[in-house]
Amino acid sequence: MTLTEKNLFNTLPLNPATLANLAQLGYLTMTPIQAASLPAALAGRDLIAQAQTGSGKTAAFGVGLLERLNPRRFAVQALVLCPTRELADQVAVEIRRLARALDNIKIVTLCGGVALRGQRASLENGAHIVVGTPGRVMDHLARGTLSLEALNTLVLDEADRMLDMGFFDDMATVIRQCPPERQTLLFSATYPDGIEKLANQFMRAPARITVVATVAECLIEQRFYEVTRATRLPTVAKLLNHFRPVSTLAFCNTRQQCKEVVAFLQKAGFSALTLHGDLEQRERDQVLAQFANRSVSVLVATDVAARGIDIKELAAVINVDITPDPELHVHRIGRTGRAGERGLGLSLASLDEMGAVGRIEQFQRQPSVWHTLEELAPTGSGPLLAPMVTLQILGGRKEKIRPGDVLGALTADAGFSREQIGKINVTDFTTFVAVQRDIALVALQKLNNGRVKGKSVKARLI
Ligand code: AMP
Repeated sequence: MTLTEKNLFNTLPLNPATLANLAQLGYLTMTPIQAASLPAALAGRDLIAQAQTGSGKTAAFGVGLLERLNPRRFAVQALVLCPTRELADQVAVEIRRLARALDNIKIVTLCGGVALRGQRASLENGAHIVVGTPGRVMDHLARGTLSLEALNTLVLDEADRMLDMGFFDDMATVIRQCPPERQTLLFSATYPDGIEKLANQFMRAPARITVVATVAECLIEQRFYEVTRATRLPTVAKLLNHFRPVSTLAFCNTRQQCKEVVAFLQKAGFSALTLHGDLEQRERDQVLAQFANRSVSVLVATDVAARGIDIKELAAVINVDITPDPELHVHRIGRTGRAGERGLGLSLASLDEMGAVGRIEQFQRQPSVWHTLEELAPTGSGPLLAPMVTLQILGGRKEKIRPGDVLGALTADAGFSREQIGKINVTDFTTFVAVQRDIALVALQKLNNGRVKGKSVKARLI
């Protein structure tokens, strides 16, 4: 999805301190569920939103309930019911982050499995927001240790799971003790019958919202390119020289295609490797170390081979082939854009793959954005080069080498700066150290002529 201005948080009527805090948290653009829910929530409407974990749903209700909160009123003004203690804890953490900019907002979690006494003391000290499981909240209401008289926002989070767990009656008991003029926000991944029952009994003309995308997906810009058999591989090279991503994971549907792509890219001067099932563990470790330390620009893999690779900071994912499985497509592109970074998901499709593209559009509920191959002029000077080079030291944990020893040999002894040295991976018998491309040869020489941990070592370029 291309990020448009209308998805910026600052288009909402929010407290300036909250806006500044959201920007500090790195939340600039709203996720689809936030863009769809927040205007209605801020206008005071009841809401039924279909959204899963990872969609940004906590902020979708959290920002709304904080906006209505009066910090100077020492009474419970918002209640979030969650199915489990784990979820309640997560929700409380996220609301605390969102509330950082506001005066002293007190959030209390009330879940089973924790002594009542401590919870009662926290409530006596004053709470603006309660996050809890239905059973325990009901318990406090029955004991008179919790009052919901001042409540203005009720959130039912993961309502389908609460119904699955048999909480309907407990929820109903709690909701009946909330003031009738409150706002009710219901979030659920699925819509079993019980959801309609809750809506009919306890909600007022709720706005209904359905969004499936996760936070990761909406920070990813997806572009599609139409290719033919003849233009497919050259287009991969053009994409690399145009966007110049530091690390790219390229997916193919078959191992044969992986081999052809790697051969093509290597011949064109890129540092590219493939990961396939025939590699021994040692070889696989070496490939992954080189990719993770940014001395290999492109890793080409099938979906099976890429399973279990966990590399953060992937600038781009290229689908050299479109996968026939739309869910797999979302998994593939979800590898980029992690940790709040923007990512690029580039997909090549020939005419006979258009059916699969259509299924992906349906699954993601968003149209694909097509770009022409003519746009892919090279940028920057010369072909894309990996910023680092890997040196291999013959010797590892068995020789008691530690990363600090290698770093010391290169900085203190050989005089390089910390910034010139990248990741250092020590395995049982060997050590990989990434160094900036321009110092690779000198660093190699210094390692071979110097000492690591008081011993001379053998090193080579890989
Ligand atoms: P949730 O679906 O509420 O569990 O949120 C998933 C993750 O996305 C949480 O770690 C949030 O901190 C993060 N998040 C929520 N909204 C945004 C946003 N607008 N921009 C970036 N990250 C967000």
